[in-house]
Amino acid sequence: MDNLILVNKTHSIDIDYVPLDLVACDKDLTARRRYGAYLRKEPFEMVMKLRNAAKESNYDIYVSSGFRSGAEQQRIYARFRDQYIASLKERYPSIGMEKIIEEAEILTKLKVAKPGQSEHQTGLAMDIACFFNGNYDEDISNIDEVEWMHENAHKYGFILRYPKGSEEITGYRFEPWHYRYIGEEYATDFVKTGLTFEDYHSKILRLE
Ligand SMILES: [Zn+2]
Repeated sequence: MDNLILVNKTHSIDIDYVPLDLVACDKDLTARRRYGAYLRKEPFEMVMKLRNAAKESNYDIYVSSGFRSGAEQQRIYARFRDQYIASLKERYPSIGMEKIIEEAEILTKLKVAKPGQSEHQTGLAMDIACFFNGNYDEDISNIDEVEWMHENAHKYGFILRYPKGSEEITGYRFEPWHYRYIGEEYATDFVKTGLTFEDYHSKILRLE
């Protein structure tokens, strides 16, 4: 059940929660960027297998982001919120501050998770990145690696968490880079259903 934990805008985890088995990803896996990425042991081992399998098909897949602490999420959330407040104030100088903040919160929530509501805090979620025309690219919506991930990620226990057209259920717009580890057995079953993880989760809970 551990790998199946549901974290979203209505299911929070304690903002102090930190998984005990975090592993630092190899430099090679994170494209040698200055900031490394951490994942729980099992998804880390499986993403290494995934990466090697992709390499055999000449695709290079990197992890750009893994575990994020509740405190880090808090900082990210505040930064986005402040940016929205500033730009809304500039664009609508006559609107009152209370309304501006309310609007900024709505925009921020659409873009980033609130602390305790990010899957990245579980250590089971990762954002992937690839090189496109030689450039490191975190926007992977238009490249062949995406296709490869679509067909193969589940074999390594990963699922595309925020697919197209499921914003009302998942609470997020399409994120082609965000993958969630749920284990190979469930992931293989999951892709057959065509459900969102939210719906799959309640189905599994009803059955088990
Ligand atoms: Zn993500």
